[in-house]
Amino acid sequence: MDNITASELAGFGVGTLLLCATIAAPKIDSFISASQRSSLGMCKRCGDLRLIACSTCRGIGAVKANGPIRFDLLDDVLQTLGGSGSDARTTRCTKCQAKGHFPCPDCSAS
Ligand SMILES: [Zn+2]
Ligand SMILES: [Zn+2]
Repeated sequence: MDNITASELAGFGVGTLLLCATIAAPKIDSFISASQRSSLGMCKRCGDLRLIACSTCRGIGAVKANGPIRFDLLDDVLQTLGGSGSDARTTRCTKCQAKGHFPCPDCSAS
């Protein structure tokens, strides 16, 4: 019984660690220094993803034109009822040309 509990705890621990690692991966990734990346043969900027996520739209490619979400929800309802003005509340992200990411300058330059 003790062994089962221990292994279950171990499995839970590993699962938790994996989950944390997955969640924290971007943050951990930012901690990896450029020198470490270059020593690993990875791109210093993007880690060989060849893409850099847009910070403005968070990779979605679109940004809300107006502020509070509740207005958007109300607008959605109005659009559903009236069927007009679609896309009025969402605009293309001008920073990334609505792609949600940029080509990595380092990778695309070489
Ligand atoms: Zn963007
Ligand atoms: Zn790169």
